[in-house]
Amino acid sequence: MKKVTIAIDGPAAAGKSTVAKKVSQALGYTYIDTGAMYRAFTYYVMKKGLDPKDEAASISLVPEVDIELHSDGRVICCGEDVTKVIREPQVSANVSYIASYKDIRLALVELQRKMAQRRSVVMDGRDIGTYVLPNADVKIFQIADVPTRAVRRYEENISKGIKCTLAEVEEDVRRRDYIDSHRDFAPLKPAADSVLLDTSFLSIEEAVEAVLDIIKRKIGEA
Ligand code: C5P
Repeated sequence: MKKVTIAIDGPAAAGKSTVAKKVSQALGYTYIDTGAMYRAFTYYVMKKGLDPKDEAASISLVPEVDIELHSDGRVICCGEDVTKVIREPQVSANVSYIASYKDIRLALVELQRKMAQRRSVVMDGRDIGTYVLPNADVKIFQIADVPTRAVRRYEENISKGIKCTLAEVEEDVRRRDYIDSHRDFAPLKPAADSVLLDTSFLSIEEAVEAVLDIIKRKIGEA
């Protein structure tokens, strides 16, 4: 069977991971959450007592950081299960600084490309279609308006027991989008050959159907 790679990029809290997970299940592909890798790195920097705004200090940890994404969704960083803690607001507030450092990106992108080498994947992030997998078979840029994204993330956080206010979540989403789209190296932007999907008025099921339709169309064309 031909190996297929699907890239789903887009701004913060656009529902990419929820949709990507369900699409990967429907197709029997491996789901790869690249955001979790930047979050795990950020958590590790903070755990070491370093300032994520300090580029040199953060980069110095590259050789010792080991991140594993397990098929059951667990994220392991240097032997510690960080699945839950990487979703905390303090990690969200700092992750975009860590993700703007080229040396950290290069290390994580190498891992991401390795994961996609031998199997069919649905990979979500910010630069998958533009930088990580420029030859992906299907590229989707998933968006939704900021208030919708903020409400979705707020409700998700509350359901997971993460304390926050809607205003804090909206500010975090806006700030991360700004930093992610203004960094020099591999910024957040749609690939020229991506399909834009606005999920502002779509339920999760409708968004999944829309993505599966795009994939069917694109793969059928190939
Ligand atoms: O996808 P998620 O919102 O969990 O990603 C957290 C952060 O990781 C993003 O705001 C961004 O700074 C960074 N990221 C990135 N490139 C990716 C995936 C995530 O820069 N491919």
